[in-house]
Amino acid sequence: MSDIIRRDPRAEWIARNRLHPLHAAMQPVQHSWMGPNGILRKNVHGVGFIGPNGIKRIDRSGAQQGGASKRTAAAEVQLPLHQVAAPAFYINVVPDMVGGRLSSHDRDLLGLARQLAGSDGAVLVVVFGEHKESTFATAGVDRLLVLEGHEFDGYSPEQRVQGLRAVDNQFNPRHWLLPDSRSGGGELGRRFAASLKERPATRVWQIKGEECIGRAGAGQEDLARPLPRLILAAAECADPVSETRHEVLPVELSTTLARSLPRIEDLGAVAVDPAAIPMAEAEFIFSGGNGVKDWALFHQTAAALGATEGASRVAVDDGFMARDRQVGASGTWVTARVYVAVGISGAIQHLQGIGACDKVVAINLDPGCDMIKRADLSVIGESAAILQALIEAVAAYRNGAKRDAA
Ligand SMILES: Cc1cc2nc3c(=O)[nH]c(=O)nc-3n(C[C@H](O)[C@H](O)[C@H](O)COP(=O)(O)OP(=O)(O)OC[C@H]3O[C@@H](n4cnc5c(N)ncnc54)[C@H](O)[C@@H]3O)c2cc1C
Repeated sequence: MSDIIRRDPRAEWIARNRLHPLHAAMQPVQHSWMGPNGILRKNVHGVGFIGPNGIKRIDRSGAQQGGASKRTAAAEVQLPLHQVAAPAFYINVVPDMVGGRLSSHDRDLLGLARQLAGSDGAVLVVVFGEHKESTFATAGVDRLLVLEGHEFDGYSPEQRVQGLRAVDNQFNPRHWLLPDSRSGGGELGRRFAASLKERPATRVWQIKGEECIGRAGAGQEDLARPLPRLILAAAECADPVSETRHEVLPVELSTTLARSLPRIEDLGAVAVDPAAIPMAEAEFIFSGGNGVKDWALFHQTAAALGATEGASRVAVDDGFMARDRQVGASGTWVTARVYVAVGISGAIQHLQGIGACDKVVAINLDPGCDMIKRADLSVIGESAAILQALIEAVAAYRNGAKRDAA
């Protein structure tokens, strides 16, 4: 075959002409690819697609991207596998696993652990009891140790510390990393440190060489100190792992754990009024906007779901919701695991406030609105009918559960 480069001027012209109907088909669909050194490369300019009127559109849900799904593309990209056959040392991480899954704080911590592990060390994650996580490999986990048993259920810090002591004896990790959070990691880390007689570095947000920097003085000061063995790290202490895949090899404890003294008795969770939970701390928020036509039904649905109520600014300005319920740039920035937006269009000021939410569900009449683009799950239709159906579905589910229990 001749090595003369052949050009198709017509195809080039179509590729340049945003208004041509074949323009999208002429664009390279590959937005990320593997570079020669095994690092994933991304073309940030390739994000989005040109709409019918020639304006560039960026689909926040990732469902379109010029006709090719971003999620499918992500699934197709096989990240390079990082293997550590014989680890020179271990970096142990104890994630919070709120709801049985890695939280964003846990992922930041794993990113930090990877930095400390380098190419010779292995990141060993210790998980208590059952979990639902399926993405340990892409979160940077080389070894996984699951400590099973009912003794770790609920609030069991003494038993957990005992488990961690056994892991410490067996693996002798170079560092222990726990999230300095209110979801368990902060307390467990301090108890563990006391049991090891170590002085931990707390609220660490940066590690530079052999030094770490943590927040102190009621969040007003930074405290630099030599890197200790036990680190309690703040959220956003490092970027989560995104460019490598890891083995997640299961490891086990070689010793059997003795039961600790039952000095603490877990009496179970206390029912709280969802309305009394501060918006910034609520895990499940049911938010209403201008598209809610029946506010009594809205409150009824939130109560049936056991969710904390939120609102758009329009709903607040119109007097349907209290000012402290407003979500968004001029309201509260929320971090819920599930955020349901009923009749909210998704104005930029509102979307800013829900940027840290894990899963967003949109109920809206308009399939083209920005909230639907942001949402992980959308229900297109009239809000009153959907809320009514939701109440019925919750009631049927609860009755079914009661029947099964009987
Ligand atoms: C400086 C500044 C700060 C702001 N700060 C905030 C803020 O913190 N928080 C905030 O929320 N806004 C804020 N805003 C206002 C923001 O720009 C939007 O005006 C507001 O978020 C719109 O609220 P909405 O989505 O409820 O109403 P709309 O924009 O009117 O949207 C209503 C939505 O409901 C849908 N709908 C209508 N009828 C139905 C039905 N029967 N069933 C289902 N869906 C239906 C429509 O399709 C539409 O998508 C701010 C604005 C400014 C200028």
